[in-house]
Formats: sequence, C-alpha cells, structure tokens
Amino acid sequence: MRKLLKILRYKRHIIDPILLTVLFVIGGIVLIGLTLQDSANFWYSFHLMFVFGFAIIAGNHRLFSHNSWPAPSWFKKYISLLSTFALHGPVVAWVAVHRQHHHHSDTDKDPHSPIYKGRLWVQFMSYNYTPDLRYVLDLYKDKWLRGLFDYYWVINATLFFVLFYINPLYIGIWLGGSFLAQMNAFAVNSLAHNSPWWIFPTSERITKDASRNVPLLALIDGGEGWHLNHHRAPWKWYFGEKWWQFDLTGVQIFATLLVVNPSYLLDLYRKRKQNVSTN
Ligand SMILES: [Zn+2]
Ligand SMILES: [Zn+2]
Repeated sequence: MRKLLKILRYKRHIIDPILLTVLFVIGGIVLIGLTLQDSANFWYSFHLMFVFGFAIIAGNHRLFSHNSWPAPSWFKKYISLLSTFALHGPVVAWVAVHRQHHHHSDTDKDPHSPIYKGRLWVQFMSYNYTPDLRYVLDLYKDKWLRGLFDYYWVINATLFFVLFYINPLYIGIWLGGSFLAQMNAFAVNSLAHNSPWWIFPTSERITKDASRNVPLLALIDGGEGWHLNHHRAPWKWYFGEKWWQFDLTGVQIFATLLVVNPSYLLDLYRKRKQNVSTN
C-alpha cells in the first residue's frame, strides 16, 4: 500500500488532471441522462451543487486560500472533507492554483487566465495544470490536509462504493452535483476576468489585473462574481462593497461563525462600536 501511494504521489500531476477531467465529463453526461429519466434527479444534483459550492467557496477559497475567516480546527476538517467529495481536486492543490492566480493574475503565469488560455479552455478544461505546491507550504504542513491530498482517490473511491452499495443512483446524483458546482466555479474563472461586453458592458479598470464585477454571476455563484472587489481586497470574507452587492456565501459564513465562533463576531461588533464612538 505504501509503495502504491508513493507511486501515486509521484504521478499525481498526471493522474489528477486526467481523472478529474474524465469525471467532470462523465458528470455532465450522467446529469443529462438522469434528468431525461426523471427531472427530480436534476434537482437533487442542483441541491448538492449548493453543498459542494459552500465547501469550495467558503472553504477552499475564502478560508484556506485567503485565511479570511477564523474557523475552529474541527470545522476546517469537516469543510475540507466535504470539498474532497466535491471532486474539484485536493484542497492543497486547489489553493496552490488559486494563490498562483492571485500572484500572477492575467499574465502568462496565471493558471487559468482567459486572456492567455482562452475562455472555452478555462470553462471546460480548467483541471489541466500542475499545481505549484510551493504556494501551499503552510497548508501542506497540516497533517489532516496532507492526508486528504495523499488519500484523495482512496477517500473518493470509498464514497463511490458506499453509494453503490446503498443505491447506484446516488453516484449519478453525486457526479451531477459535482459537475454543476464545477461549471459554476469555472464560470468565475472564465467570465469574471477580461469579461466580454455582453456580460460586462463597461470598461471599468480599477485593479491592475483584468478582474471584473459581474452581477449576474454573483447571483448564481454565491457572491464570487464580485470578483473585482475580491481582487482589490482578498482578505475580506464578505465580497459585497456596496449595499446592493449581495454575497450569499458571505451571509453563510456569518451564519456559520454565529455557531462555530461567536466570540469572533462579538469582538468584531465591540471594535466597530468603539470606532463609531471615538469618531
Ligand atoms: Zn480572479
Ligand atoms: Zn481569491
């Protein structure tokens, strides 16, 4: 087993992109097939998309990539396991790619720049890059996250067999939910940078990169469409800057903090009150 893991780890930069892309394509085909069979199946996958979306956006992105909100370690374990099931790649690999994106936005070193790679490639082939693990040395030291990286395929194969044993239909719903969540995530990469005129009709240029706020995208992808705001202030867990820029994931993070770390919110409230009274 150890020897197998060693080989798997060595070849991961080849295995992961191929398997993830294949599963993404299978997920799309299975979702169409199951929906034609019974439209209720689509809605099951649609609901699962929100669960996986929360794990990816609130977890992989805002928590692990940017450390923007303080979750207790048990919650980090829970949300990283959930994101493992979402089939977007291991947390550390996801974060490595995303941090590289922020470091080199819209240059030839950006792993998913629509300017250099093309919008269609970014939307459908986003797994075809090798994560540079130098960006995640902090996370790779974490035993739990390293375990999720090493045993990524073992964990998902286990889920596959468990679902198969309970009801094979659940495998289709799982892959369908993962496909929808990935389409959403890739849409941010492909449409919120260098956005075409039909999705972003003005030529607002505030950051040095080509990130844009795309209101329609923000509505359907849990607030990630406020992408220009995010590139301007990646340390914030709420992406809306104006009152009308609603950020669903920001609200979900707030609700989560109320349960898992209320003292942080209380501190935030006290500091804000103090600032108001001193001004
Ligand atoms: Zn970006
Ligand atoms: Zn980011």
